[in-house]
Amino acid sequence: MKILVGAFQCESNTFSAAKAGKENFYILHGEEAKQKLFASHLFEEAGFEVVPLVYAVSLPSGMVTRECFDEVLADFRAEAAKHPDADGVYLYLHGAMYVEGLGSGEEWTVKELRKTVGDAIPITLALDFHGNLSDGLVPLVQGIAGYRTAPHTDYDDTERRAAEALMRILNPEPETLNPEPIRPHFFRIRVQFADAAQTSIEPYVSVLRMIRELDADPRVVTASVFNGQPWVDAPFMSASIVVYSASGHDEIHAKAKAVADYFDAHKTDLTFGVPAVAPEDVAEAVRTMAKPVFVSDSGDNTTAGAAGESDCLVNVFRGTGLKTLFTSLYDQDAVAKYAGSAVGRGRILGFVGEDAGEGIVVREGNVDIVYSTVRTSFTMKEHFVAMGLNPADYDVVVVKQGYLWPGAASLAASQVFCMTPGTATNDFSTLPFKHLEGDYYYVKPTTTPNPPSLKLRRINPQPLIPNPQQPCPTTTKKSPTSALPPFRQSLKRRTLTPRSSISTS
Ligand SMILES: [Zn+2]
Repeated sequence: MKILVGAFQCESNTFSAAKAGKENFYILHGEEAKQKLFASHLFEEAGFEVVPLVYAVSLPSGMVTRECFDEVLADFRAEAAKHPDADGVYLYLHGAMYVEGLGSGEEWTVKELRKTVGDAIPITLALDFHGNLSDGLVPLVQGIAGYRTAPHTDYDDTERRAAEALMRILNPEPETLNPEPIRPHFFRIRVQFADAAQTSIEPYVSVLRMIRELDADPRVVTASVFNGQPWVDAPFMSASIVVYSASGHDEIHAKAKAVADYFDAHKTDLTFGVPAVAPEDVAEAVRTMAKPVFVSDSGDNTTAGAAGESDCLVNVFRGTGLKTLFTSLYDQDAVAKYAGSAVGRGRILGFVGEDAGEGIVVREGNVDIVYSTVRTSFTMKEHFVAMGLNPADYDVVVVKQGYLWPGAASLAASQVFCMTPGTATNDFSTLPFKHLEGDYYYVKPTTTPNPPSLKLRRINPQPLIPNPQQPCPTTTKKSPTSALPPFRQSLKRRTLTPRSSISTS
């Protein structure tokens, strides 16, 4: 039996100006594409023939341009067309891709691919925990497996669940996956959780326990919970529960609904999962902490699609005497512009660790700033090594992340979540949403001038403004950037004065 496999991933932030074109995708074909997918090995071990379509993965960005989407999809369809005898399709998508003029990238990926492979063969998906599932996507596929960890550590396990679902559909066991058609059970929970939502805290601990119990039922193909990607201004932005059953549909529907009802009833239990500090207080807050302290520039978090151009925290740490490494400011012309004042240079790795561009280190007093010719985030040791940098040489390391990625966390002696402004802000009341429908809840983080011990604090969820008839109070006629809170002025690009006194190395 023959399975087509592929990946097409970009997590979109519809407020971010950093749109993703084809040049922003890392694209592989053939054997290389096949090897990138853990599922390929599982299919082959089980005796299936694996045919790679395309592997196209981008750093989280703004919307994906229509041109890019159409080109990549044409590529997918051309490869699929060579195999009219395919028995099934496995796709590793993100879940929060938003295509300019279209909407859900996942819905349109499957819809377009179905034009080539037809409606008769099963498709299963592996998705990120931050997927926003559109109503149109769910009935197009026969199984969806989502990450069960945030921060994410279960990539392979998620691929395994989606792959095993497809193999069970293709090799049905008597009285379980046969002969009834597979049915989805889909429930939306209108919450807007960003970095507050971690799977080690409630309500996700309980919801995930219930999801695992449901998944253990042999009549269930897949059972998943999604947090949603909150920086997407679309009516399908939400958390969700999605379960696919092969038989016993009514009973499974009731069980899936019970999980969704539990989640809905406990959505207000969520607390902001990381200690949050205001930008004006962060320099003082880190002084007594174990070094290096990793500081998340959360409002300009490129792993949530922000542009990576804010130097807010350069201004905050400059002149504090704290030896600071700032990673990284995106500027296509950086190397040419700042060559004269460089104290270091190296390679910039992209989102999946690939060699993606050039970087340069410029020293401004106590702050070493990494400028990069491509958007990125220093999520793992390799990013620092490729630039010839060692976080241990610094008191403070600023990273363009929200909660720290595991690879970055392993380098940090302590960490702070800084509530910087920007298109990836966790203060959703500052963003001009226009297309949400229904009542949403979000967790509003609070910060105190001098957080005593940087412990978790319980925050009351606030109802979120979502009536389309009633404009969001923070919406103004001005551009979104101008609606941001203090420090917004520092979002603008500074012009660096090259300093001849800086030594080069
Ligand atoms: Zn995610």
